[in-house]
Amino acid sequence: MSRRKKGKKTLSRPDGPFQGGLVCPLCLASGVRPLRAGGGVFFRCRRCGIVFNSAYRPLSYDESYFLDDYRGQYGKTYAEDREAIRRLADARLVRIFSLYGGGAPRGSLSLLDLGSALGFFLESARDAGLGRVCGVELSRYASEWCRRESGLAVVNSAFEDAVFDETFDIVSAWYFLEHCENPRETIQRIYALLNPGGIFAFSAPSVFGPQFVFDRGDWAARHPVDHRVDFSPLTAVRVLKRMGFRTVRVRASGVHPERIVPRGSPLYPPFALLYRGIAPLVRFSDTIEIYARK
Ligand SMILES: [Zn+2]
Repeated sequence: MSRRKKGKKTLSRPDGPFQGGLVCPLCLASGVRPLRAGGGVFFRCRRCGIVFNSAYRPLSYDESYFLDDYRGQYGKTYAEDREAIRRLADARLVRIFSLYGGGAPRGSLSLLDLGSALGFFLESARDAGLGRVCGVELSRYASEWCRRESGLAVVNSAFEDAVFDETFDIVSAWYFLEHCENPRETIQRIYALLNPGGIFAFSAPSVFGPQFVFDRGDWAARHPVDHRVDFSPLTAVRVLKRMGFRTVRVRASGVHPERIVPRGSPLYPPFALLYRGIAPLVRFSDTIEIYARK
């Protein structure tokens, strides 16, 4: 296994009195306050700004997650959504390469994708010319599907239990980190697995978005029990820089004006135009993508 390295700067020790024994899972500060309309379950860290779920519990992600659950949410199975997921993957790879810079030939680069699902991001990375791509996936169904259909390397394991005998130029994790019980340890391990100059690219839910800001009760009621943390653009930059990353870029993803003004409203067309123009500039969105360079 690769040795774990500490970031250039480590987050400092907890300060202040404990509030109900609660500690921020990202920076370990004990200065946390309960969210209004959070049902006593959600807290915001006063130091790093992360919002966390004190009633978190992990769920299993197996065959039904990629079939029935996904179809229930998106109207098709995960496998049937391959084309759209590949388009998104291609766009994300462009952003990764833009931050990485033009020095090394792509064939010399390696990528590790955490929570690789059926491997569609790995397929895009391979097709973009990366020399070595590998996934880590908890679901046996998804791991076997990926190996069988794409012939790609996947470790069927939880990330914290996976063993690697190499480091990587890129580590990606699309909607993965919020599911981790100890996101701080996960980020530290990712940092250690990256080569100098390497890129950590991930997506996550953000509280600097319309659902949290305009409808907190609905946000709390719909919040997945297996989501431990919710970021914001500023929190993501602050935390990742403290953990040693040199450059951090954040972009809005999932811009949904209909969550603020209903589609049927006469105000919707001008509002949607305005919101789609402004949201990317201020990164006001229910989900964000983060690209960090070691
Ligand atoms: Zn914190």
